[in-house]
Amino acid sequence: MSALMRALRPASGQLRSFLVSPRVFSSAAEAQPYDRQFRSSLSDPGYEKFEDLAYGEAPVESPEPYSYVPPGRHHLFVPGPVNIHENVQRAMQVPGQNHRDPWFAGFYKKCLEDVKWLYQSKKGTAIIFPGTGTGGWEACLTNTLSPGDKVLTFRYGQFSHLWVDMMERLGLDVTCIDVRWGDGADEAKIEEILKADTKHEYKAVCVVHNETTTGVTSDIKGCRDAIDAAGHPAMFFVDGVSSIGGSQFKFDEWGVDCAVTGSQKALSLPTGLGFVCVSDKALKAYETSKMKKVYYDFGDMLATNPRGSVPYTPVLPLLHGLRESIALMRAEGMRNVNKRHARLAAGTREAAKAWGLELLCTNPRWYSDSLTVVKVPEGVDSCTIVKYAYSKYNMSLGVGLSQVKHKVFRIGHLGNMDEVMLLGALAATEMCLIDSGVSIVPGSGVGAALSYFQKHKPLIPTRELPEGAEPGLGSLVG
Ligand code: PLP
Repeated sequence: MSALMRALRPASGQLRSFLVSPRVFSSAAEAQPYDRQFRSSLSDPGYEKFEDLAYGEAPVESPEPYSYVPPGRHHLFVPGPVNIHENVQRAMQVPGQNHRDPWFAGFYKKCLEDVKWLYQSKKGTAIIFPGTGTGGWEACLTNTLSPGDKVLTFRYGQFSHLWVDMMERLGLDVTCIDVRWGDGADEAKIEEILKADTKHEYKAVCVVHNETTTGVTSDIKGCRDAIDAAGHPAMFFVDGVSSIGGSQFKFDEWGVDCAVTGSQKALSLPTGLGFVCVSDKALKAYETSKMKKVYYDFGDMLATNPRGSVPYTPVLPLLHGLRESIALMRAEGMRNVNKRHARLAAGTREAAKAWGLELLCTNPRWYSDSLTVVKVPEGVDSCTIVKYAYSKYNMSLGVGLSQVKHKVFRIGHLGNMDEVMLLGALAATEMCLIDSGVSIVPGSGVGAALSYFQKHKPLIPTRELPEGAEPGLGSLVG
């Protein structure tokens, strides 16, 4: 052990605090219960062993906090970024390429076709921006509206809040209906407000499909029906950042005018692409829109994309990843992708029920297939659960955001995910709950989830074996 490390390690408990505490706790008071829990577990022989393994000699080689890479893999269960399939990772391993060479046009046209498929749209125009979901929001608003235009929207979590904030900063006249965090868009309110707007001053209705703060998926078709019932011509904009490619989404059928998503969610790519799908009605609105736009201008894309070109340098590795990611989804089939998400979500809810914990979303019609947001009992800080997940089990869970910070934790199960991965995460979550003092029966949640999965797990279509073949033994025939 180096002199530096000896100086840093007066006692094992303190080294543990050094590695874990300084960057994560915002105050000594906040650190107190967590620290106490760690100290009390130091007498546990299992912990000693763990400490030797994880914090024994490794820092000698790399004394920086967080530099030690634990064995196994990191278990990523936040609702984006999500796990990236190995095939997609390989597809992105490309050398530098010139997007002005002849191969690019055909390749890019296929990327745009893939995105249309993702949106389940035949009539819409797909646009791919280097950027993220937030850039998609901005593209949607600035290309279709003018300063001072009235828009109607809801706030029921941090992401709908941020979209409202953007609308206001862009100078739109926003009517925001505040809803309890844990509920979704109230279709009756849309109808009521639009019916009263006899002069048709509202230019757009904006709805976040899956609120990633609360695990609530609003009914987009229901919102469309409400706009129609009011006989109102407002455009309909949807944030599908954490739903599209996971939950069912029908751009054409649901009469959406602009839908936004991002690469690091159900598409299971790294962050870096923002997607929009735009209806003809929204493209028409572009012609009279007076909002300023440059980087996210639809016009530059529409002038170049149809011939397979782009107005500025594209993120080529991500586009290669996109092609592979969509190929995997096409092979599975969108309906099966949607069903898989629904199954994983239902299994997770069974686990929460078996733990005796409530969900933030209380109305089953709004249950999210992308993530499950679990409330912790009074007296327990949900951040502690997330910290234990990271520090003891090499797993990332989502913290509670903003209003629901300390009160909930989030289990992301969207994108490249299967039952076996999720059962591992549920097992680790159980350990974190117990570590944090929540009284649950070990194995209860995992047991409930796996019972559910066993009842609802279909055979993988391409793995139905011909006679004589057995997994692990190869073919016994021939
Ligand atoms: N909308 C929703 C529902 C989200 O979950 C997020 C991010 O998590 C965003 C918008 C913002 O997307 P990004 O972080 O990719 O800019």
